[in-house]
Amino acid sequence: MNILIFGPNGSGKGTQGAIVQKKFGVPHIETGVIFRQNISKKTPLGEKAKAFIDRGELVPDDITIPMILDRLKEDDAKKGWLLDGFPRNLAQAEALWAALQKENIKLDIVIEIDLDRETAKKRIMGRRLCKTDNNHPNNIYIDAIKPAEKDGKIVCRVCGCEELATRADDQDAAAIDKRHGIYYDTKTGTLAAVHYFKERTKVIIVDGRSGVKEVSEDLMKKLG
Ligand code: AMP
Repeated sequence: MNILIFGPNGSGKGTQGAIVQKKFGVPHIETGVIFRQNISKKTPLGEKAKAFIDRGELVPDDITIPMILDRLKEDDAKKGWLLDGFPRNLAQAEALWAALQKENIKLDIVIEIDLDRETAKKRIMGRRLCKTDNNHPNNIYIDAIKPAEKDGKIVCRVCGCEELATRADDQDAAAIDKRHGIYYDTKTGTLAAVHYFKERTKVIIVDGRSGVKEVSEDLMKKLG
């Protein structure tokens, strides 16, 4: 099974991607993870990509496209793959489609988690981390996981501890806007890539506004 997953930062794409990956038992290939691994190993690819990543820009297509097309040729990808974070623009979508056509590889499923830009931004900025347990989800903008209140203070909704923190990069509005600027760009950005696939294959769209559980139930139902 060969799958693409799209969704803006803040849409829960990572969480849903992990669920889809489990369901189909295919490797989860994430461009961002590959870049970070190359950066930490100080490979030539990592050295080239680092400056772009640090500035919040896309790594140029002439580096990213061959990297992913090569990754898809590795042994574990023979049984299928879930590609996450690629394509991120129209040129990458065209290159992927052309490569798949050439190798006679079918793109089985394209998933889009649909979420408006304002909600996606709030989701990121509203995240609160419980210092007692990283797996206690709290978000001041999501009703289902709103922190509780005790003596006028917000506390973890799961364990009640007062140690709720924000992550610095979650509060960087300019960085979020930059990433979303690329995603929501319908001319050449990620939404242009999604549109490109809509014209060529079936795209499963799930409404990202509900909670993680509802989104994954909807997704599983649509995946059949
Ligand atoms: P991510 O972990 O998906 O947020 O990716 C982290 C960074 O890696 C992005 O901000 C980009 O700089 C770079 N990156 C990830 N995927 C791509 C891609 N498909 N094309 C170009 N750059 C990418």
